[in-house]
Amino acid sequence: MHTDRKIRVRFAPSPTGALHIGGVRTALYNYLFAKRNGGDMVLRIEDTDTNRYVPNAEKYIIEALNWLNIKFDEGVSFGGNFAPYRQSERKEIYKSYVNQLLDTGKAYIAFDSPENLEEKHTQIANFQYDASTRIAMLNSLTLSKEEVEKRIATGEKYVVRVKIEPNEDIVVNDLIRGEVHINSSILDDKVLYKSFDGLPTYHLANIVDDHLMEITHVIRGEEWLPSAPLHVLLYRAFGWENTMPRFAHLPLLLKPDGKGKLSKRDGDRLGFPVFPLDWIDEKTGEKSSGYREAGYFPEAVINFLALLGWNSGTEQEIFSMEELIQIFSLERCSKSGAKFDFEKGKWFNHKYLQVRNSENLAKYLIPVFKEKNIDFDKNKLLEAIDAVKERATFPKDLFDLLLFFFVAPQDFNENDVKKRWKEETSQLLTELIPVLESMENFDNEYLTEETVKQWCEQKVCNLGSVMNPFRLTLVGEMKGPQMFVVTKILGKNETLKRLKFALEKLNLFKQ
Ligand code: GLU
Repeated sequence: MHTDRKIRVRFAPSPTGALHIGGVRTALYNYLFAKRNGGDMVLRIEDTDTNRYVPNAEKYIIEALNWLNIKFDEGVSFGGNFAPYRQSERKEIYKSYVNQLLDTGKAYIAFDSPENLEEKHTQIANFQYDASTRIAMLNSLTLSKEEVEKRIATGEKYVVRVKIEPNEDIVVNDLIRGEVHINSSILDDKVLYKSFDGLPTYHLANIVDDHLMEITHVIRGEEWLPSAPLHVLLYRAFGWENTMPRFAHLPLLLKPDGKGKLSKRDGDRLGFPVFPLDWIDEKTGEKSSGYREAGYFPEAVINFLALLGWNSGTEQEIFSMEELIQIFSLERCSKSGAKFDFEKGKWFNHKYLQVRNSENLAKYLIPVFKEKNIDFDKNKLLEAIDAVKERATFPKDLFDLLLFFFVAPQDFNENDVKKRWKEETSQLLTELIPVLESMENFDNEYLTEETVKQWCEQKVCNLGSVMNPFRLTLVGEMKGPQMFVVTKILGKNETLKRLKFALEKLNLFKQ
């Protein structure tokens, strides 16, 4: 390894749509690896496939990674010494490298029309353009120099293909998978450049840029492993073996049941997002939901993704970005696919919600209160959040959990009433009123609890026979946090008001 080189990694998405959550994990691992090693992280946009180009995808990618706190040192929208970082703006650069391969005989020009190629595919099963078939095709290896020049001069469309020598053992040295051997005969003479739009294909642009941008490590999804042998050959063809980046191919993200690759359909079917942010497909109008809009915290998504394909070797599960940077290593990435356990993702969100303070969580709730025209006292809201948050996974859960503090129940859950409102209940609660009234306030929940308990003991009544219907009168159903936390937040006046209202209403109900 070239220890004298500064570690440089890149995240190189193609702007073909919303960034899949697997792509986010790739960006995260690149980021952690770079920061762990004091290196740089580059954002390169690989937009040379004009057919698959989707406007707004680039913007989406940048916004998503920014939301997740995955930071870049240079690249599209960040600038840097190796600009431009958008491949469509590097056309001229690639052209000179294509010419270099043509001049050294490592690539050749081919004129075969799409129809002709199509015909070959139908005639010959598993047809591939390679050493055994190229001799029967229309290319600069079979045509005379004059003929080739003439065709180009008349504007005939052509492509440039890499010339793969058969029967060579190619070794891809992967930091996660070890040595992977591939026989070059299984590779085809991939297209590197198209005269049609003057653009290179992914294979050429990707390695030329990795070289020029001094990338030391290529960390990417396993789906790119099949192109690695060709990339090794191209590095060799250019004479760049000495600075060839090290590869690390990350394991696949699998469906929750482990059977096959995670897809958008799994998310739709099982009700979890597979994209970081909401995305609307401009052509079909189809909407895909994102983690941000579903109420996930970025730090929860990061923690969840970090453990899908990597482990710390300890029991610890909660990691901040800083902690991850301290301990991340490619050696601890697994070779086998990682099951996408979305319940675990929710669990992380629940955990991160607990450590957010109520002031922060209120930011999610205040707009909802305002929109619904519900009056609230800010301090009370903060107290209510603290009282209910242990039962919330998402900020939006808080609204349902604490609404009763601000809107007094007008109706009472019928089943709960049937179960909890007994013959003696009205009498008991009516007697509880003066006990509560005798207290100055309910600010000290332990004192309120003690007072009610002592009264109950004196009366020799079962505590549950008081507390259950009491809860019903304040909350409207058998839910909610600890009772004397409820009375504290509601305050003396409101508590008594609700109690009296319920007594009136429920007595009628029983009669
Ligand atoms: N443009 C490729 C992608 O969309 C990059 C693959 C790589 O990282 O080499 O993921």
